[in-house]
Amino acid sequence: MSHEEKLTQLRRYFHTSGKRYTVEREHMLDVIAEMEGTFTIVDLFKVAKAKGFVHAASTLYRNLFIFIDSGFITERHLSGGRVEYETNTGQNAFLLCVGCGTLKKMRLPKEFKAMQEELYKKHKMMPVAYNYLQKGYCSKCQKKIAK
Ligand SMILES: [Zn+2]
Repeated sequence: MSHEEKLTQLRRYFHTSGKRYTVEREHMLDVIAEMEGTFTIVDLFKVAKAKGFVHAASTLYRNLFIFIDSGFITERHLSGGRVEYETNTGQNAFLLCVGCGTLKKMRLPKEFKAMQEELYKKHKMMPVAYNYLQKGYCSKCQKKIAK
């Protein structure tokens, strides 16, 4: 997605949700666009600060929901209260063990993609974000349960 397309997506979100468009929020988009794969809020703040866009972590926290809601990043709640973020959502699927916290990342199966497209089409939705976090117990933890 080009920068112009990203701006269009962000402006579309502001227009439909009634949220205010600010230069600060546009700068946050520039920072988020630089993030690769999974990252934490601390990683995001480091990049934002290095670019000179965001001076206070509170600004980042206060505006982060905009980028989650508009589909630029996915927020993933892991075990033990850990939270991670990811750009380019919809490419991977995750399996989280709620016992030991092991997170397995894999390419999203083709069948999932076909199903999601069908679902969006059926409900006349324009897709912006996908979340494929499945929770369960891994084989090691299942052995503990059996004891
Ligand atoms: Zn486990």
